[in-house]
Amino acid sequence: MTNNDARVGRLNQAPDRAGSYVLYWMQASMRARHNPALESAIACANERGLPCLVVSALTEGFPGANARHYRFLLEGLAETQTTLAERNAEFILLQGEPVETVAAAASEAALVIADASYLREPRRRRKELADRLSTALVQVEGDVVVPVGAASSKEEYSAATLRRKLQPLIEKFSSLPEEQHAECGPDRIDTSSIAPAYPHLEQLLAEDPQRVLDAISVDHSIPASRAYRGGFSEAEHRLNEFIDQRLAEYNINRNDPALSWVSNLSAYLHFGQISPLYIARRAQAALPPDHPGLESFLEELIVRRELAMNFTHYNPHYDSFECLPNWAKETLRVHSTDARLELYSLRQLEHAETSDRYWNAAQLEMLRTGKMHGYMRMYWGKRLIEWHRRPEAAFETAVHLNDTYELDGRDPNGYAGIAWCFGKHDRGWPERPIFGKVRSMTAGGLKRKFDIEAYAERWS
Ligand SMILES: Cc1cc2nc3c(=O)[nH]c(=O)nc-3n(C[C@H](O)[C@H](O)[C@H](O)COP(=O)(O)OP(=O)(O)OC[C@H]3O[C@@H](n4cnc5c(N)ncnc54)[C@H](O)[C@@H]3O)c2cc1C
Repeated sequence: MTNNDARVGRLNQAPDRAGSYVLYWMQASMRARHNPALESAIACANERGLPCLVVSALTEGFPGANARHYRFLLEGLAETQTTLAERNAEFILLQGEPVETVAAAASEAALVIADASYLREPRRRRKELADRLSTALVQVEGDVVVPVGAASSKEEYSAATLRRKLQPLIEKFSSLPEEQHAECGPDRIDTSSIAPAYPHLEQLLAEDPQRVLDAISVDHSIPASRAYRGGFSEAEHRLNEFIDQRLAEYNINRNDPALSWVSNLSAYLHFGQISPLYIARRAQAALPPDHPGLESFLEELIVRRELAMNFTHYNPHYDSFECLPNWAKETLRVHSTDARLELYSLRQLEHAETSDRYWNAAQLEMLRTGKMHGYMRMYWGKRLIEWHRRPEAAFETAVHLNDTYELDGRDPNGYAGIAWCFGKHDRGWPERPIFGKVRSMTAGGLKRKFDIEAYAERWS
């Protein structure tokens, strides 16, 4: 295996065996650049004199996913397919239940490599696949700077406690994987036994990702985003622009919703279309190490993002009210009998029909583009607590709306961000109605700090 060993872990005890190819199941790191799992698969294939086969499984009806997410994912995969071909690796887009289809694709594999996820469902699938395979399944963690288990063996209390553990390790995990060409061509792989319809979906993908979307059964009620196009090139373009124009003043302007002084990379990170380590390295190359803009950006990209991975990895209740610390659950429950001035139905919230102009603007930004500004996400989540009788229901609504409409939804960052609104990774504050000891945010605060009218005007 290549790269730092802490990125690599065996998921079963089956030995690797003589086979016709090395299989990489690309699920989380959907990119052909700076991808440690892909580089491990190509290196293993080259060592054995075998071709490298990469498969991704399109699951129709993946919980919470809709056309907006699939379209972005497929745009990224179309580019990945082209780059894999340039690197002499074969790509097959499987259709159906991933454990079934990937297990079938592994029938002649010498070894199977997977990337890592920190969420319940993908982890269950990897475990099931590990139990099914009679060859080795190896996981390579490439969507974090520091592997989650190496950073900490337990759920961390706050950003401060994780930061202390991450900082001495970042340097050790800062090398990007070396990129190799697959030496052995894919013509030795009998693709007909792996995917009978091959290359139907792959051809559609190469022609136009929308054609794949039309051919599969997904929820089309939420349209694709016109503001964000998926893929590594698009992510890199946004990264270049961010580094040139905004990184140096990120610490000053990042919170201002009227300016939108952020990288807009979260959806690309969510779908694994760009490596967080690559982003960090590019930012580090642009500014001196103690530059406040760089420090502030790396705090979000590494500490906050990897705190979210730590949270979903170690807290099995990450997407419900149960995940919160006891003090936060208790105080919110005690104050659930406090009078609420307004209550809204899910439909009213979904359609941005509240009396709060700023909240509606944030909701509309999310509905239209697939991405709400980060500062507004905090305000948006906090207001939901005031508009539900029970805090448990407010949490549920937040998860539902976030996962449905955000392109970067269904991500550890989303669950950690929502939980933060309810007190997670935060401390207690002076007690007040409805919120109890949980920090509150008000429209007055938005008005004092930003030109929030300009933001509201833009999205109304
Ligand atoms: C209620 C709520 C819901 C959220 N839902 C999501 C979600 O579904 N998906 C998601 O990726 N993020 C979510 N966040 C975290 C954060 O708001 C977004 O990551 C950020 O706004 C993405 O925009 P950007 O890429 O332009 O960020 P930038 O400011 O440019 O930051 C760069 C990267 O750092 C990471 N980052 C930034 N802020 C945070 C943060 N507070 N916590 C963890 N990582 C961070 C992200 O990966 C981001 O792409 C949520 C936050 C809250 C409060």
